[in-house]
Amino acid sequence: MKRTEWFSDISGTNPVFSALDTLTFDNRFVNELAADPVKENYLRQVEHSFYSRVSATPVENPELVAYSREVASLLNLEEDLIKSSEFTQVFSGNRLVQGMDPYAMCYGGHQFGNWAGQLGDGRAINLGELLNANQERWTIQLKGAGPTPYSRGADGLAVLRSSVREFLCSEAMHHLGVPTTRALSLLTTGEKVMRDMFYNGNPQLEPGAVVCRVAPSFLRFGSFQILSFRREYEELKQLVDFTIKNDFPDLEETSGESLYLKWFKQICEKTAEMIVHWMRVGFVHGVMNTDNMSILGLTIDYGPYGWLEGYDPEWTPNTTDAAGRRYCFGNQPEIAIWNLYQLANSLVPLFGETAPLEEVLKNSSEYYLRKSQAMHARKLGIQEFENSADSELMKELESILVMVETDMTLFYRALALVDSTQVSDRREQELDLFMNSYYQPEQLSTEYKNRFSQWLNQYRKRLGQDGTPNEIRRANMNSVNPVYVLRNFLAQLAIDKSEDGDHTLIEELLDVLRNPYQEQEGKEKYAEKRPEWARNRAGCSMLSCSS
Ligand code: AMP
Ligand code: MG
Repeated sequence: MKRTEWFSDISGTNPVFSALDTLTFDNRFVNELAADPVKENYLRQVEHSFYSRVSATPVENPELVAYSREVASLLNLEEDLIKSSEFTQVFSGNRLVQGMDPYAMCYGGHQFGNWAGQLGDGRAINLGELLNANQERWTIQLKGAGPTPYSRGADGLAVLRSSVREFLCSEAMHHLGVPTTRALSLLTTGEKVMRDMFYNGNPQLEPGAVVCRVAPSFLRFGSFQILSFRREYEELKQLVDFTIKNDFPDLEETSGESLYLKWFKQICEKTAEMIVHWMRVGFVHGVMNTDNMSILGLTIDYGPYGWLEGYDPEWTPNTTDAAGRRYCFGNQPEIAIWNLYQLANSLVPLFGETAPLEEVLKNSSEYYLRKSQAMHARKLGIQEFENSADSELMKELESILVMVETDMTLFYRALALVDSTQVSDRREQELDLFMNSYYQPEQLSTEYKNRFSQWLNQYRKRLGQDGTPNEIRRANMNSVNPVYVLRNFLAQLAIDKSEDGDHTLIEELLDVLRNPYQEQEGKEKYAEKRPEWARNRAGCSMLSCSS
């Protein structure tokens, strides 16, 4: 059934007016950039244009599962409105309101290191750019609302399991202070979707869902790459100019280096800052393909991501990545730089030479290093890294953390409890502070205990030099080392319940994760380390791209 028919079904000859019709849209992307001239929704290569107009596929019985009140408030949407059937119809893709002009974006990307050609929004449909009361522009996008010209043979849909993960993690990341796309709402469609979760010949019907994502822009590195690969240099320049004007307006007013170079430098810096945050909180994206890298340095496309439990730089949550570990925790900084190199390559036609871009890239690696050191200093509770001894202290800690399975989140909270003025005869007991962060405390060897005690001695000495009083240092450390993260098993528990029709755990987790740095009474169970049953359970330790 085509959406136009559906629309007339519900509106008939008397269009339904609602509060949603009063929203203000100013769709610059479609108003200023060329559209694919083909109107029909079939798979194709889309050249010399930036997007294809497309309608969402209507769904049977949409129901609201959860929403973010913070994003609702950003968009000036009242709670009553969000709970209305009007909202459910619009944010499942069944209805449009005045000013919406839906489209899917064209982009390409390097997937696992190889150029993959055109990818594009295969299951994301942008409804429009909403202007809120503060005149801020937010692009509203439905993920899982049906096929587009970019679906490449897939169905354009999303299942509840992956949608719960995307919804919760977007908001959790925001509250952790990590740059991210946001999620307004999560709806079930009332329809079933076939998925072979582990690509092992066991397809199952799963509940379908749609998440409404919200961001200032959904442009990706791959949006620029595809134009360059196709030698569409005129369009490349148009998209860069458009992006600078709309998303980097401050740049236009500065002078000095060329505007494009300054822009690229900002992308490098924003990307580096995002990665520093991921490393701080123990987040592993899992699919850092260039089509999943936002031009604004936002965490985007929550697929087979995961959170470090036991600290392990080689850990990847993505089963597709298990063999190569390209996207494991410890590789993320390097991969970000690799991705920036690919973006730089695609921008060469704007510069005519590579030297200035190479210079920026080189500086970006150094920029990352500085930011990363500053972050580690804050995690350790010292004001800044002063010399190589501080880097050594950090390096030694990282070596110790991998000696036994140590929960990263719990460890850093315990570290804040170390007393910098403690007398030597009580130091034995200090190890007890950390017992809760070990997955197998019985495995602690004498070698481990000695090495860690030595490290603690050095650490305490360093804290002494730093001079920040215990209480202040603890508060500082606890403001960057979260107590609550969206542990993989917690998301899975919420999914299990939700698939049984009980969505309360989504609500509960969303609420706890609003204040991730603050211990909350009665919520201790959400700060606990992964239980043993979750060690090898699908969804808790292994995830695939199938979503
Ligand atoms: P990812 O790397 O998982 O973000 O996705 C890579 C590409 O596959 C993007 O172009 C997505 O839009 C597309 N894609 C992923 N899942 C689906 C789906 N179920 N239907 C259509 N396209 C999809
Ligand atoms: Mg993607």
